[in-house]
Amino acid sequence: MLPQWIIEKKRDGGALTAADMGFFVGGYARGAIPNYQMSALLMAIAIRGMTLQETIFLTRAMLASGIIIDLSSVRRPKIDKHSTGGVGDKISLVLAPLVACCNVAVPMIVGRGLGITGGTLDKLESIPGFRTRLGESEFRKIVQKCGCAIIGASERLAPADRKMYALRDVSGSVESIPLITASILSKKLAVGLDGIVFDVKCGKGAFMKDFSSAKKLAQTLVKASNLMKLQAKALITDMNQPLGTAVGNALEVDEAVMTLKGNGPADVLELTLALGTRMLLMSGRFKEKAAARSALLEKIKTGEAFEKFKLMVRLQGGNPGCLDRAPGIMRPAAVKELRASSTGYVHEIDAELIGRASLAIGAGRSRVEEKIDHAAGICCLKKIGDTVSRGEPLALLYANSRKRLELARPLARQAFKVGSDGVNQPKMIISEIT
Ligand code: URA
Repeated sequence: MLPQWIIEKKRDGGALTAADMGFFVGGYARGAIPNYQMSALLMAIAIRGMTLQETIFLTRAMLASGIIIDLSSVRRPKIDKHSTGGVGDKISLVLAPLVACCNVAVPMIVGRGLGITGGTLDKLESIPGFRTRLGESEFRKIVQKCGCAIIGASERLAPADRKMYALRDVSGSVESIPLITASILSKKLAVGLDGIVFDVKCGKGAFMKDFSSAKKLAQTLVKASNLMKLQAKALITDMNQPLGTAVGNALEVDEAVMTLKGNGPADVLELTLALGTRMLLMSGRFKEKAAARSALLEKIKTGEAFEKFKLMVRLQGGNPGCLDRAPGIMRPAAVKELRASSTGYVHEIDAELIGRASLAIGAGRSRVEEKIDHAAGICCLKKIGDTVSRGEPLALLYANSRKRLELARPLARQAFKVGSDGVNQPKMIISEIT
């Protein structure tokens, strides 16, 4: 078999077999198939699509490229959540410790930034010393002791996704339902979860821009999980405006800490509670939504959730002391205001443009090897529906480079639309797929 035969088969609309996937993905993970051939196959998949059966073959091949961490010694239900990628999405940082406070283990394998969307790994790495690569036994020990740990794919853990993810990010094959599904599931199945809740983002700042494609992604994720013996459910949530007010790695850690301390933005708290409630119900620890929700709120109120986050940070090598400084765990060289040019109501904050502005300012990557500027980002001081006066700041741009600031400023400016009529906040939870 030659790799190009498999690429040609997919290019011409054929269905790939388990053997095709095993050969290609296994070969790529070992370094026997080069990036240019994998890029071509990924693009053929992104254009031609795949059946559910092919998606499962791909997931299995990606999973087989690495180890499976045995967490059977963790005697608690193991439930996770995964977002399909959004702008300002720092929910995992709040949710993992919060749910872990309710006697449910949350062993998270997460990704880096992808396209315009931020990645949990990049955010966590803005905490000095935080290690996102742990060996299996250290990961297991931390989950046992703390109830949660967050790490990334490595040479041993989901190695195929690690390489394919980085390649998709810079070669135009991110927005593909089978590729997103296989990427997420190959990471999640590597830790033997009991269940998962998906947060499928829908809107301008998401890979799925409209409801029907978000619904298709949610259904594929849930069906593929169930076929691979994992209980799953999905929420489809709004991603037309950035989530919360902060976009950029250290800024988002700040906002997650504020939420854990009970002072976060309303939409971040609302989505965290919606996902956390579903995770607790799935774990079997709670039978009623209302009881699960109040347990989560109580953990924030008592300070337990923030202490749990600090414990996880300490066990993963980070300096928890710096979190007490939030907001302000990192200071960039320059902070510039973006001012409103008219008085009225905020009608739109285009999450895609804010995502592009955050890439331009240095908070994301445009090449695989590019380094992220953890302090850079954008703080949107307004949300849709807020009133604003001419000259009032709409957002703050955080940068370490004047050139990058100048690249980001017009994109961020274009993202805001102010009109004279009042508008309501968009609904956060659009739909639920079980
Ligand atoms: N999250 C992932 O882990 N993979 C994707 O492809 C998209 C979001």
